[in-house]
Amino acid sequence: MKKTKRLVFKVGSAVLTENNQIAKKRMLNLVKLIARLREKYDIVLVTSGAVAAGYSALKLDRAKQIGKKAIAAAGQPILMSSYKRKFDIFDIDTAQILLTEDDFDSRKRTKMFQEIIDAHLENDILPIINENDITSTPEQLFGDNDQLSAHVAHATNAELLVIFSDIDGYYDKNPSEFDDAKIIKIMTEIPKETLAEECSPNNVFATGGIVTKLKAADFLMKRGRKMFLCNGFDLSAVQSLLFEGKHTLGTIFMPKDEHDEVPAPKPKKAVSK
Ligand code: ADP
Repeated sequence: MKKTKRLVFKVGSAVLTENNQIAKKRMLNLVKLIARLREKYDIVLVTSGAVAAGYSALKLDRAKQIGKKAIAAAGQPILMSSYKRKFDIFDIDTAQILLTEDDFDSRKRTKMFQEIIDAHLENDILPIINENDITSTPEQLFGDNDQLSAHVAHATNAELLVIFSDIDGYYDKNPSEFDDAKIIKIMTEIPKETLAEECSPNNVFATGGIVTKLKAADFLMKRGRKMFLCNGFDLSAVQSLLFEGKHTLGTIFMPKDEHDEVPAPKPKKAVSK
């Protein structure tokens, strides 16, 4: 059955990986959340984790291009079967879609994968996307799933991209370095200097870092779309937002004009006794 609202979820290595392996409990929690949300939304999942999953089977040097590609090739089916076992519990069929930056280059190719995703969603199949970095050259790749997921969210006309990471949202400074870092709950634009900063992935398998998440947000905001960056270890913030419409934690990135349209809360009237 076709639902009117579409969400794209992106799960990073930080959430899906623990001690060089797939973090199965966290993956299951995400799968449970997706199963509940599917009653209301069409969901497309963009997932990292192939290199981490493959490393347990093939311990080559991840820093070398061929080593990383060989590990990813070994890991992709391990990752997908790990998802499959969990989605099977909820009777959800999945499909694997591997994309590169080239797929967004021409209208013809973008249209093709849009139609494939539409066909899956119309038939109640959950598309699971990853970057096809195995035989692609670096020029054909985004290099991180943050920007890939933003392109997917735009091309599939998603209401919201949700990026699950190992932090509660976007902070005014790096929270792993500064104890006094404060979370920014709503961002309506991203300063150019920040976008130019170097990527700082936090984990050996991560290829993104906060800058690629900001680039993803910037791409979507410029196209009138929204992104929510939240914690993938503790799903309470995303649950509050998507089930109750309450923004408790996490950062919402939204275009400025849309933010301005949200009516300001009315001041409370003084109670006269
Ligand atoms: P993922 O694998 O989920 O894509 P990354 O490790 O690539 O995650 O990126 C998230 C990390 O970015 C956080 O754990 C944090 O250490 C780092 N980071 C740097 N600056 C910031 C910031 N201003 N706000 C939030 N996180 C930041």
